[in-house]
Amino acid sequence: MKKIISSISAFLVLFAFSGSIAKSAEFFTIGTGGPTGVYFQTGNAICKMLHKSAISADHGRKKGTAKAYRCTAPSTGGSNYNIGQIKDGEFQFGVAQSDWQFHAYNGSSKWEGNQFSNLRAVFSVHNEPFQIWASKKSKIKDFKSLKGKVVNIGNPGSGQRGTMEELMKAQGVDNSYFKSVTELTSSEQVKALCDGKIDAFGYSVGFPNGAMEQAATCKAKASPINLTGSPVQGLIDGADYYAKAVIPKGTYSNQKKDATTFGVKATVVTSADVSEELVYLVTKAVMENFDDFKAQHPAFSFLKKEDMIKAGLSAPLHPGAIKYYKEAGLM
Ligand code: GLU
Repeated sequence: MKKIISSISAFLVLFAFSGSIAKSAEFFTIGTGGPTGVYFQTGNAICKMLHKSAISADHGRKKGTAKAYRCTAPSTGGSNYNIGQIKDGEFQFGVAQSDWQFHAYNGSSKWEGNQFSNLRAVFSVHNEPFQIWASKKSKIKDFKSLKGKVVNIGNPGSGQRGTMEELMKAQGVDNSYFKSVTELTSSEQVKALCDGKIDAFGYSVGFPNGAMEQAATCKAKASPINLTGSPVQGLIDGADYYAKAVIPKGTYSNQKKDATTFGVKATVVTSADVSEELVYLVTKAVMENFDDFKAQHPAFSFLKKEDMIKAGLSAPLHPGAIKYYKEAGLM
C-alpha cells in the first residue's frame, strides 16, 4: 500500500512538474501571408532561428533566454491583416510591405482614421516587385491593356490588394476599367490563371517564387508585364517606400525579357507593447544565425545586415532591436 501511495505521489509530482515546464515557455505569433508566398517562409524561418538559439542556449528555460519562448507563424491574409492583428494584440510580430508599414504608422491611405502609432520596425527583408502576371492568350502587355479583362486584385487585408489599388488610383481607373475583378488569395490566384478563369493578377512578392513558376509553366504560359510610364514613375518619385524594381529575364521559365516595375520591401514589424526582451531575442536569433537564415529562401540571398536595419523602415525601430544592433556594432 505504501508503495502504491508513493508511486501515486511520484506521478503527481511529475505531472505538476511537467505542467510547470509547459507553462514556462511563452508562446507568440508572427503573421505571414498565403502558404505559397515568401512571407510564410519568412515567418517560419524566424521561428526556426529562435528555436535554434533556444537549443544552443545553456541556461535552461528561464526568462531572458530564447528558451523562454516558442513561436508559430501561421499563414494569413497578408500585410494589412498582420498589422491589424498586431494592433489588436493578437499577433506579436508580422511581415508587412514597406508601404503598409508607412501608412499604418502615419494613419494614411487605408489606415486613415485608424492610425497605429505604436507600430514598430524590427528589420526589413527581401524586395517585393509589384507584378502583374498575365496569361499568354490575354495579350496583356502593359497596364492599359488590362482594360476589359478579368483581373484578380487580391483578398482584402493583403498588401497586394492595397498596392494594386494605389496603382489603379495612380492610373486614374477603378474596378469598372476591367471586365470584372476577383478577390482571390495569393494561393488561389495561380490556379485561377492556369484554369483560364482570370486573365491576370497583381501580386507583390519576392522572387524567385514557386507559385509564379507554376503560372509560367502551366497552360496559361503567363509572364510578368512591364509597369512603367509616368503614373508608375509618379509613385516611385512620390514615396520612399517605393523603388524601381526589375525581375531579370530568365528568373522564370520562358521569361525572355526583364520585367521592369516598381516595388516595396518586405519588413518585419511589431508593437511598442511587445517586450524589449522578446524583440531583442528574435532580432539576435536572426542576425546571429544569418547564413542559415539566408539559406531558408532564395529571395533572401541578397540580404545584408546593414540594409536590413534601415531600408524600407518608416516606423521607429523597437528598443529591443536597437539594443541588439548597438551590441553587435551595427549601429
Ligand atoms: N506582399 C504580400 C502581401 O502583403 C504577401 C507576399 C508573400 O506572401 O510573400 O499581401
